[in-house]
Amino acid sequence: MITTLLRSSFRRSVRPQDLDRRLVNRSRRAGAGVLVVFALVGAFMLWSSQATAHVARRAAVAQRLSDAYDDATSAASAQASLEHEYQLEPSPWIRESFRQYDLALAAALQQVSRLGASSDEAVAEHLQAQHVIFQDAVDQLFTAVDQGNSGRARQIHEQDVDPSYNVFQSVLSPAVEAVEQQARENLTSLERLESMNSRLTPVVFLSGLLLTMIMALISGGQRRQLDAARAQAVHDALHDELTGLPNRRLFADRVDQALRASQRSDHHLGVLLIDLDRFKEVNDTLGHAYGDELLIQVGQRMAAALRRSDTVARLGGDEFAILVSDLTSERTAEDVAAKLTGELSRTFSVQGVDLDLEASIGVVVNVPVNGGPADDGPVASPVRADADVVLDAAVLLQRADLAMYVAKASNLGYVVYDPGAGHQPSPVTLTLLGDLRRALDRQELLLHYQPKISARTGDLVGVEALVRWQHPTRGLVHPDAFIPVAERTGLIGSLTLHVLDMALSTARIWADAGQALPIAVNLSARNLMDEELPVQISDLLTAHGVPADLLHVEVTESAITLDPARAGRILNRLSALGLTISIDDFGAGYTSLAQLRDLPIDELKIDRSFVMTMLDEPANAVIVRSVIELGHNLRLAIVAEGVETAEVLTTLSDLHCDIAQGYFISRPLAPVDFETWRQTRESNVSR
Ligand code: C2E
Ligand code: CA
Ligand code: CA
Repeated sequence: MITTLLRSSFRRSVRPQDLDRRLVNRSRRAGAGVLVVFALVGAFMLWSSQATAHVARRAAVAQRLSDAYDDATSAASAQASLEHEYQLEPSPWIRESFRQYDLALAAALQQVSRLGASSDEAVAEHLQAQHVIFQDAVDQLFTAVDQGNSGRARQIHEQDVDPSYNVFQSVLSPAVEAVEQQARENLTSLERLESMNSRLTPVVFLSGLLLTMIMALISGGQRRQLDAARAQAVHDALHDELTGLPNRRLFADRVDQALRASQRSDHHLGVLLIDLDRFKEVNDTLGHAYGDELLIQVGQRMAAALRRSDTVARLGGDEFAILVSDLTSERTAEDVAAKLTGELSRTFSVQGVDLDLEASIGVVVNVPVNGGPADDGPVASPVRADADVVLDAAVLLQRADLAMYVAKASNLGYVVYDPGAGHQPSPVTLTLLGDLRRALDRQELLLHYQPKISARTGDLVGVEALVRWQHPTRGLVHPDAFIPVAERTGLIGSLTLHVLDMALSTARIWADAGQALPIAVNLSARNLMDEELPVQISDLLTAHGVPADLLHVEVTESAITLDPARAGRILNRLSALGLTISIDDFGAGYTSLAQLRDLPIDELKIDRSFVMTMLDEPANAVIVRSVIELGHNLRLAIVAEGVETAEVLTTLSDLHCDIAQGYFISRPLAPVDFETWRQTRESNVSR
């Protein structure tokens, strides 16, 4: 449940790069939104100004039209009154005025037909025509007045002038009325537009403002979310996903910080490395869900037993580490280790299942560079740092690892790193270790192959791969000089994988050339404690496309006795893959035969110290003979290594030993030399 919760919460958390992308997308969308709004506002403004201009133009035209009509109206009415006046008191001035108004009227009507619509044009034409009639009538009236014929004048006035004027007015009035109506409408339109403008402008302004605010809020929220996700990513990079505890990186950082602080003060610090002995069993038998919850509980229990100022970290798998940065004479690193051992030995309850664990704890304590005498330090087993080794997290962890390894091997709950007890690698060794680490990266390791032949027929039946280090200054270094160092630290893990990788690529080359030959690779005790190894080997076989029966592994008796249950599990899994398993250096250790019988073993390799001397030391000859008999009874193939003479080979053949390996047959050879050896041998045999 807890695991599920932790996992789901982890899955829910957003990676910052995703959020970055989302933020960019949203900002783009918001930007597009703003553009659309601005475009709409712009379009509205444009439309409104054009509409206003249009209406204003229309209003101006209507005004001039109305003026023209007004001019026409007043000219006509002025003419009408002049006509009256002329009847009463004729004078040339009146006639002249009348003519002037004539021109004014014509101009006004011309203006009407120019400015107005087609309807106005028609009106103007009609008015023009009507005015001509009116004018003719007035002319006749003027003539009658000039002749002094007032009766005739009155008659013309009543019968022609007045009616024609009335007709003229009846056409003009509605036109004027229409133009005025038009002007009123224009005015209303203008007013409407103006009020719409004045109402809409603040609305547009406010919505723009609102949109900007919303965008600011959204991007602010996103920014906060992004910051939170970034903080989460930093947290994730420094913490173990399952338990939420600091991971190796953060732990190393805290150790380095504590080391610096301890150099300034008199404080001592302790690093404890904890390996759970039976954890894999839980994982394998009950499943990962149980394993995961157990790890969480282990982390919680250790944290609860320690102080807040201590750091509990999970380095990976079932490996935890603890930093105690305030050791005193009251609180020694051993106290902490003893307390943890007690805590971890209490039964755990995982989903109703009671589980017992054992832990191996390696403890290391720093001594500040300016530290006082070691024997009055605050730790029970004080340790002096090497004068020429700079203490850092890596060195402390390496030492804790050595101590942890000793604790595991000796079945002690915890062991404090103590160079006096042989835990301490010499400076030379430490340099070697650093060099070796680089050697792995720089591909300075290579393999030599030593042939294994059938003791009966002499046929080549396989090779043993033996690692060599082409050191840049020291030349070719033999494994005895660096394998034990690699074994005492975690480095042997990657070294073995590297050797396996090289061996399998050679196996592939030989198989492709139609000369397939099994290659035996040596495994170390530490490899047999690494539950990942079977999977890694299986992956390598697949990667190289090499069948499992072309790979043999050699393990020593002592490697098995370190943690027989675990070693047995791993060997079973290797055997299930199809690998051949040999017990190396057999006879030199103390493996009980019963123990061997339960393991998936195919081959025994008699230790070379017996074989080399078997013709000189009768006791060794007895051992060789007994091992051959015993092995055969257990249906195991027997390999004798250290065959240095023809006599030994013959004797072994007589004793029905199956396979022989040794300098007499060949020394371990570089691949090119091995090819030559093989060809020479094959041509000799065929001859
Ligand atoms: P080993 O597995 O017992 O390998 C046999 C060693 O005996 C080899 O030494 C080989 O050169 C030597 N030898 C073979 N025939 C004779 C002989 O007739 N007379 C004598 N006196 N010696 C003979 P080498 O190559 O120096 O390896 C030493 C040890 O280093 C190996 O002993 C093995 O335990 C370890 N080793 C070598 N390569 C690897 C490796 O890749 N991984 C691991 N974990 N250990 C390795
Ligand atoms: Ca070997
Ligand atoms: Ca051997």
